[in-house]
Amino acid sequence: MQNNYCNFLLNCISFHQLHVRFCTTLQLGQVISEYKENPVELANKITDLRKSVKDGMEKGVIPEGCKDCIYRKTEAEENDKIKRIDLYYWYHCNCGCFYCSYRDVTKGEFSDKVKEGNPVIYKTLKELYKLNQIDKNNLHVNFGGGELGVLKEFPKLIDLFLDNNVMNVWCETSGIRYSKAVEKLLRRGKGGITAAVCSGCKETYKKIKHRDKYNQVMKNLGKYVKAAKKNKEVFNNSDKVVSKFIILNGFNNNYEEIDKWLAESKKYGLTQVEISMEFCWGIQTKAGQKIEDYNYKIFDYVERKAPEMGLKLRKNETSMALMEKGVY
Ligand code: SF4
Ligand code: SF4
Repeated sequence: MQNNYCNFLLNCISFHQLHVRFCTTLQLGQVISEYKENPVELANKITDLRKSVKDGMEKGVIPEGCKDCIYRKTEAEENDKIKRIDLYYWYHCNCGCFYCSYRDVTKGEFSDKVKEGNPVIYKTLKELYKLNQIDKNNLHVNFGGGELGVLKEFPKLIDLFLDNNVMNVWCETSGIRYSKAVEKLLRRGKGGITAAVCSGCKETYKKIKHRDKYNQVMKNLGKYVKAAKKNKEVFNNSDKVVSKFIILNGFNNNYEEIDKWLAESKKYGLTQVEISMEFCWGIQTKAGQKIEDYNYKIFDYVERKAPEMGLKLRKNETSMALMEKGVY
């Protein structure tokens, strides 16, 4: 049996800063378009390419960029509609994290100004709904950086998904600007957020994020938890507001910071936290090198401490896979 199939090719569309593609997980994969067309043409192009890639897979034709990919499978999913949409299409952010993977482009600049991202995307998504390409009731959406709080069309996009009965929208946010659209998602039980706080006090936060906004972020997370709790139909809906701690060597890789982070998360009403290695830079700059011991130690420590504090713990999946391998 040959590995001709890929669920990303069948079920995913990913909007990046420069182009639309099928998959987000790898640097491989086929690029569909570079936003040169108008939204109607782009939606048609996506639809046609999805069909021809699917037909090709059935005949054993693997797209050029997918040939070396480990994620291919021997069997196709029965449902070939779009079930996952990744929206990582703008750089603008109101935070200045020193570890941000977009620093090559942003040069570390940030601002609180709300800016338009890419208006073509909203219209293209509307067209894809019209063309019946999206599996409405099973759609999962991922919103990633820049920052959604300073993305002008974010509320409009959230409304589009909610109006079409989206299953789940997960957003990464700095948490600096409170978003009514995120609040709406949480109240409806249709999504959640991860905010990388990476610290348990304003001093460490400022060193990492280059903004003096720790108290504001924690206050906003507390408000989001309260909004999530308003939904009584979804079990443990408050778990959908997650504070993430990325372990950063020399900044926060010590037990004291972890203790403060857990205590503060609890104080602001959070019920779930996430621990992660720093791997975006790690994979680029330390390929083949051993994963540092402090990562394992801190993971073990958090695994013990979080339940003692009454907090649920998510262990970042990519970090877990890397740590099991032991090398970047
Ligand atoms: S085969 Fe691999 S590279 Fe190609 S779309 Fe699927 S996951 Fe991406
Ligand atoms: S919040 Fe995210 S996008 Fe913004 S600077 Fe930090 S890592 Fe980059």
